[in-house]
Amino acid sequence: DRGPGTRPSRPRVLSVAGTDPTGGAGIQADLKSFAAHGAYGMAVTTALVAQNTHGVRSVHVPGPAFLREQLDAVSDDVEIDAVKIGMVADEANAREIGAWLDALAAARSDAAVPRPWVVLDPVMVATSGHRLLDPGAEQAVRDLAARADVVTPNLPELAVLAGRDVATTWDDALAQAGSYATACGTVVLLKGGHLTGATSPDALVVPAGPSSDGVPTVTTFDAERVDTPHTHGTGCSLSAALAALRPRRESWEDAAREAKEWLTGALRGGAALRVGTGRGPVDH
Ligand code: PLP
Repeated sequence: DRGPGTRPSRPRVLSVAGTDPTGGAGIQADLKSFAAHGAYGMAVTTALVAQNTHGVRSVHVPGPAFLREQLDAVSDDVEIDAVKIGMVADEANAREIGAWLDALAAARSDAAVPRPWVVLDPVMVATSGHRLLDPGAEQAVRDLAARADVVTPNLPELAVLAGRDVATTWDDALAQAGSYATACGTVVLLKGGHLTGATSPDALVVPAGPSSDGVPTVTTFDAERVDTPHTHGTGCSLSAALAALRPRRESWEDAAREAKEWLTGALRGGAALRVGTGRGPVDH
């Protein structure tokens, strides 16, 4: 249905993630972020999370078989333009999502229909300290990252992906992202929010290749650091925005710049929302 004159009016974008019943993070945040960027949002649940603005109470994982049924139900019927993968919860889920991506790529390999853009937010630990990924699932998430087009780690997540110590300066983090991107063959959108300073930079790090003389290409997006406790769902919203924007932008660079500018506004708006008495959500 992508022939002339039949282009869809909106990109069809799927979130594969966990839930937040208070609407700040996870699937609920992703769907709001998709809508804010004009995409048609869809969602497959990896894990049901009982949480609010104070933290995570418990996590229920329906398991890989039902996860695959949800994924196939969408892809058997809908041409997906982009996928955002967030909290996968455990190794079995991560491997199932990888197998589904492989099946989708194989089905579309001949194809008039291109495979979807894939953004992986390697969610590991909530800001409240609650683990959202089994420690035993880290290798499976590395394998998933190698299948994604873009991975969006913060500094601690990058360290886990790269199997290195957490970088303590922005320059060290950029170097770590460059060697990781090149080894893995995946673009990295590195999020600098964990550092301190007047600005909160992100950087798009593109793997080294023949066209870059073997050196990774780094584009930095600077933004003011918004001084707010209301950062719940920041990472979810950014990666969802990136997936929603990419089908209608020329490059990851264009999509990432726009997503970052939008997120800075969403962070500024968080305080006025009055959602919960803890660390409230950004205004997606
Ligand atoms: N809950 C879910 C389902 C998530 O996917 C995430 C992060 O990606 C979080 C919570 C973490 O939220 P935060 O650390 O922003 O509070």
